[in-house]
Amino acid sequence: MTNIYGYAYERKGFWDSWGHLSPQLLKTGIAVSILLGVRSGPPTLLSVIASFALIGFVIITWLLMRKHDRTLCESCARSIPLNAAEQSARYRRRFATAHAGGNLKLVIAYLAVLLGSNYLLTVPHGRWVWAAIQASMIYLISAHSTHRRLQPWCPWCSDGGGGSEFDDATPDLPRDPGRRQLV
Ligand SMILES: [Zn+2]
Ligand SMILES: [Zn+2]
Repeated sequence: MTNIYGYAYERKGFWDSWGHLSPQLLKTGIAVSILLGVRSGPPTLLSVIASFALIGFVIITWLLMRKHDRTLCESCARSIPLNAAEQSARYRRRFATAHAGGNLKLVIAYLAVLLGSNYLLTVPHGRWVWAAIQASMIYLISAHSTHRRLQPWCPWCSDGGGGSEFDDATPDLPRDPGRRQLV
């Protein structure tokens, strides 16, 4: 896990702002792609252009999110809640999901399901199941950004990354550097 709590940098410029807003932008991008996918009728030139623009947008946003997540920007630092330990107790499932992103086999299986689900677009009513599978990405991004925000309180990140117990005490900041970035 990357050390993001060592210092907070001042966010400046368009790309930093894009990176900071990337979880919300990615979720919006995925929602738009689901809407494009479930709309019935043959593809039009406009819908094909929109699909490619969307893919480009999602890739750029994802890269900016990775860059943003390596450090902690001032706005993110300010958004850490005062009752972080309390909130973290409620987000165990999200933390576990975020850590599952570090399991290569699981990631490959998930990507296979994501790609394979495109077949559902060709069968009657399959597009609704496809939409539900695609929507799982929105949850994954939420899990990732919750984990990033509350990482010092994540039980899986405690004890050098192998911990499994909650500690209600405020963690020592900054964290040990050199941890691998998830997702
Ligand atoms: Zn930020
Ligand atoms: Zn963690």
